[in-house]
Amino acid sequence: MERGEMLYEGKAKQIYATKDPGLVIMTYKDEATAFDGAKKGIIKNKGIVNNRVSCLLFKLLESRGIATHLVEQIDDRNVLVRKMRMVPVEVVVRNVMAGSLAKRLGREEGEPFSSPIVELYYKNDDLHDPMINEYHAQEMGWATRDELEQMIAKGLQVNEVLKELFDSIGIILVDFKIEFGVAGNEVLLGDEISPDSCRLWDKVSMEKLDKDRFRRDLGKEEEAYQEVVRRIEGALG
Ligand code: ADP
Ligand code: UDP
Repeated sequence: MERGEMLYEGKAKQIYATKDPGLVIMTYKDEATAFDGAKKGIIKNKGIVNNRVSCLLFKLLESRGIATHLVEQIDDRNVLVRKMRMVPVEVVVRNVMAGSLAKRLGREEGEPFSSPIVELYYKNDDLHDPMINEYHAQEMGWATRDELEQMIAKGLQVNEVLKELFDSIGIILVDFKIEFGVAGNEVLLGDEISPDSCRLWDKVSMEKLDKDRFRRDLGKEEEAYQEVVRRIEGALG
């Protein structure tokens, strides 16, 4: 399948039309951004790692009955996916206190939760992705009640599958963000799941193997991303 017209360019990926109106190609870039685009940089080969990691994780999720937009990985930076109407609501699932939640509640990072915490955010850079709940999303017409219920239930299922996988490769899945879209009348998992959108801590060293290395200027971003893909390929590749 060949790339046609570019339909969208985001911070980390481009979306291209294909000859099939129901399919698009996502192309992963090495550009990294944080704080709603205020901080910019490059993580060498990030696009290649994120495409590979996301394809492997989406395949695993499909095999566990969670429907996704994935059709097939085309090459190192390109993936063919079903074109969706994206729901502008980010679903965040947390297993351990970290990031914006730790800041907001005045807690130290690292406290494990007895059960996962689900949060919803309105995907809007200009408004800095404000936290919302189901009532807001429904009232604003971003998703129906049924779609939101499905997104939250699927978010928790994704968490169970990925927590187990990461645990088996010596990594704590601290938290992650996922996005959903609608194709036909199906709610599908879309976008990506990668070290850009997850917090991943090495179980032994507690070293961060994710985008926090870039956000917090910790260095060795490229090495951390490579370590994640190496371990996932060892388990699933
Ligand atoms: P952003 O838009 O946040 O800068 P990206 O650079 O990752 O993010 O751009 C990818 C865009 O493609 C996102 O806006 C995402 O919601 C959208 N997207 C992801 N999967 C699909 C899909 N299957 N169909 C249509 N759009 C998608
Ligand atoms: N996240 C993301 N995109 C966003 C916001 C958050 O991928 O626009 C991910 C982030 O990498 C982390 C989780 O969602 O794994 C929770 O992020 P948090 O709310 O703590 O925000 P942050 O402090 O990372 O901005």
